[in-house]
Amino acid sequence: MFFKKYLDYAFIMIIVTLVFSTLINLSGYKFVNEVFINGDSIGFAKNKEEIYLIIDEIKKENAFFEKEGNKKNKDEYKNNQNFFEEIRPIFLNRILNYKNLTSKDALKFNLLSKIDKMIFCYSFCFNDIPEFGVSTLNVADNILKNHKKKFIGDEISDDSVLEFDKKISIEKRFLPTYKIKNFEEALDILSKNECTQITHTCNKNDTLEGLAIKNNTSVDEIIKSNKNLGKNIFEGQKIYINKNGPFLGVRLTKKIEYTEEIPFNVKNIEDEKLKEGNVNIVSPGVNGKNKIYAKIVFQNGNEISREILKKENLKEAKEQIQKIGKEKTPTLIASGNFSNPTGGRLTSRFGMRWGRQHMGIDIGGPIGTNVRAADNGIIKFASWRNGYGYYILIDHQNGYETGYGHNCQILVKVGQKVSKGDVISKMGSTGRSTGSHLHFEIKKNGVFIDPLKYVNY
Ligand SMILES: [Zn+2]
Repeated sequence: MFFKKYLDYAFIMIIVTLVFSTLINLSGYKFVNEVFINGDSIGFAKNKEEIYLIIDEIKKENAFFEKEGNKKNKDEYKNNQNFFEEIRPIFLNRILNYKNLTSKDALKFNLLSKIDKMIFCYSFCFNDIPEFGVSTLNVADNILKNHKKKFIGDEISDDSVLEFDKKISIEKRFLPTYKIKNFEEALDILSKNECTQITHTCNKNDTLEGLAIKNNTSVDEIIKSNKNLGKNIFEGQKIYINKNGPFLGVRLTKKIEYTEEIPFNVKNIEDEKLKEGNVNIVSPGVNGKNKIYAKIVFQNGNEISREILKKENLKEAKEQIQKIGKEKTPTLIASGNFSNPTGGRLTSRFGMRWGRQHMGIDIGGPIGTNVRAADNGIIKFASWRNGYGYYILIDHQNGYETGYGHNCQILVKVGQKVSKGDVISKMGSTGRSTGSHLHFEIKKNGVFIDPLKYVNY
């Protein structure tokens, strides 16, 4: 009987349970798991499986830190590598309306917030890999702003285009605490120089100089990194380049306008009557002006290319017309013989005269008579000299000098080369003189000698 009763009782219990379960199901209530991490509830999950899937996902998302831990931040990482092992969920059965289940995102967020060594932040991701995090979006913006400014200043106009050389995104996510940086630390990371080897396939327009500028290296460095690389490169050629630049390179493309001088052309007319080497400007040239519209690319602040988009002529350049001397320059080598410097008659000899030494000879003639160089040489003096009046001294570059005094007009300049027989002045009576005559003197190694030993009057 007892058995029967028991069966009845069990039967009733089964019915009650079934009714109860059906009621729970019908009412939307289910058995669920409340999840605890480190003693704190993080919400209600449909089942344990859901939580383990979330933990797997977190591990996957942070796998690169483990990889990184082996390379970059070994010391920093060592103390942080166990942060996933802290995730030991505890589950308690609850009956709950499914409407009140915690969403997967919320479970994940709550779970991560219970891990001491993870922190919610704004993470800088480069080419999809989180590099570091900062506390607020405002700080993140300021870091990028200041980094750009470092390389390109404030020169961003509306039509300029700014690019980074890595794909960059700022994501809200959890990162290990050692990945959190302050403003200065973050700026340092972004601007720290990196030397990376790239393989470049040459374009038609590439030059080694251009590639060196573009990659902030030198032609020598490029040649060093490549076996058998000559000065000339060809299209399609692959070369290694050790590129230097900040971790986050900044490239600015900017349109600018400026005026540019156009240098004038020169038209030369040969002139047989002008001494060789002399130039006589007949009509001076004038520079023109162009307005240039150009597109300039700056990489990390350095100009790496300039493309002229449009040229507008503001002023035409005016050609310069000039005569070019073709007359052979007199040979500088003095003949060693002296010709008569002028026509006329001898009026005074070399030597003692009226109680004083006469250093040359006097040749009388009409005012304006041509006076000629007695030999090839260079004009050493051509100006007024006390007593001598207008005076010329020729250095014959062979130890001899000749002097010509009392001229009324000088026709040569200091430094000018003259040939034997060239007219250098006109006879006159300037200085201490009593009538129109040429005072002619010859010096040998600085000592006056008698000209009549060389010339005939
Ligand atoms: Zn004299």
